[in-house]
Amino acid sequence: MKNISKNKPVVIIGGGLAGLSAANYLNEKGVPFLLFEAGEQLAGLAQSFHDKDGFTYDFGAHFVTNRLADAIGVGDKCKDVPRYGESVWLSKRSYSYPFGLMLRPSFTLSALKSKIKPASNGNGTRSAADWFRSSYGEKLADEIAIPLTEAWSGAAGEELSSAVGDSIPGSIAHTLYLKLASRWTGRAVSCGYSREKPENPGVWHVYPDGGVGVLCQKLAENISDSIRLNSRVEEILVENDQVTGVIVGGERFDAGAVISTAPAHILAKLVKGTDKLDYLSKFRYRPMTFVNMRFEGRGLLPDVVVWTPEDEYPFFRLTETAVSMPWLAPEGKTVITVDIGCEIGDEIWDMENDALGTVCLEKLLPLIPDAKERFLGCKVLRTPLAYPIFLKEYEADRKRFENGTGVDGLFSIGRNGEFRHIFMEDAYWRTRNKVDQMLKADG
Ligand SMILES: Cc1cc2nc3c(=O)[nH]c(=O)nc-3n(C[C@H](O)[C@H](O)[C@H](O)COP(=O)(O)OP(=O)(O)OC[C@H]3O[C@@H](n4cnc5c(N)ncnc54)[C@H](O)[C@@H]3O)c2cc1C
Repeated sequence: MKNISKNKPVVIIGGGLAGLSAANYLNEKGVPFLLFEAGEQLAGLAQSFHDKDGFTYDFGAHFVTNRLADAIGVGDKCKDVPRYGESVWLSKRSYSYPFGLMLRPSFTLSALKSKIKPASNGNGTRSAADWFRSSYGEKLADEIAIPLTEAWSGAAGEELSSAVGDSIPGSIAHTLYLKLASRWTGRAVSCGYSREKPENPGVWHVYPDGGVGVLCQKLAENISDSIRLNSRVEEILVENDQVTGVIVGGERFDAGAVISTAPAHILAKLVKGTDKLDYLSKFRYRPMTFVNMRFEGRGLLPDVVVWTPEDEYPFFRLTETAVSMPWLAPEGKTVITVDIGCEIGDEIWDMENDALGTVCLEKLLPLIPDAKERFLGCKVLRTPLAYPIFLKEYEADRKRFENGTGVDGLFSIGRNGEFRHIFMEDAYWRTRNKVDQMLKADG
């Protein structure tokens, strides 16, 4: 190898699923590495919290595919998820996705009309609003797709790039096939959770005993000597367009290559010795507040996931995880995760947890009329970095970043590192591919 050696190992920034996948793969290949994690524990967004009353709250990720669990080696420690379904709540009624929506003639007609003149994404130059209208028809786009996209991103549909559509599951026919397969098999067949490898009835959701964090624990097994917790990388050193090391706690560590999972706009600040990545500092991420509401009873929502596109709701998505995964709540009780897009320092972000619970409770009444009588309390989780926002104004730069960092030996991977809407399975496979490319380039 040219650069990577015992004295100049690969430095990995971040101990979430992507960073640990890279570490695990390098270990498998006998390549020396050092992983620095800023926090006091591993797993990043792939964490679960358990409370004393027997409830489990997942930070971001709930739904793991059996293919990922098997690849990581925890397939035998997972339970099959028996049920998964999505509905849309409109005019105080629930429509299952996609069957129920298709039964509304106005939606079907507008969708059919759009199929006569199908859309291209215009290479990212068109807006997301245009893309939704020409892909789904005006009615579905204006009443459902655009309001939901605006709620999670915090940006107007006209300001967003049509590339937002790239993260949406493929054709309606394939979606129907997978949903039907779920019914036949009695398993929650994965739909829209994996793009690197094909989705089919043989890929379904599972949940690790002990929580989602078990995936990362397994990846970290046997490599703890090369992992440093509470170690924020402060600088990435670049000389003559080649990465040479990192600074952690004021100390320099030489590096043959650096694999970063830090968010792209943070990466821009970390890199010293070149201005090549300055353009990344304008990339934005949407913060999210998750209000995990505990209730007496179960099956309170019309479906596992309920989308709420109407602007009378401060949230855009509700997930009753305990219907999909009964082990996440004690028997006879449930937990509903309420997703609210927000900005750091705004009213939602700063609101006291109990007050946030009260706001959500009021707004849940149309869906659960006796919500107040059933309510047992809530646990609020917040993340400043949940969704990469694909603004049209930096679409050309986003595409440029897809081709790499432009700095020799510096790789940016993972959901926030790639600035890409990817789920865990894709983060895993994409990371392994990038590691292969890195090792090939290193000779
Ligand atoms: C709301 C939401 C729901 C989701 N649901 C699902 C789901 O159901 N199924 C699914 O498969 N996926 C889901 N995902 C996606 C999944 O969570 C991610 O793909 C995956 O966890 C990303 O892992 P990562 O390692 O790329 O990033 P992260 O988990 O963010 O890890 C990055 C790590 O890097 C560390 N770090 C950052 N900067 C530094 C630094 N300078 N020095 C040292 N360490 C640093 C951070 O502390 C963090 O631990 C969801 C995501 C969100 C936001």
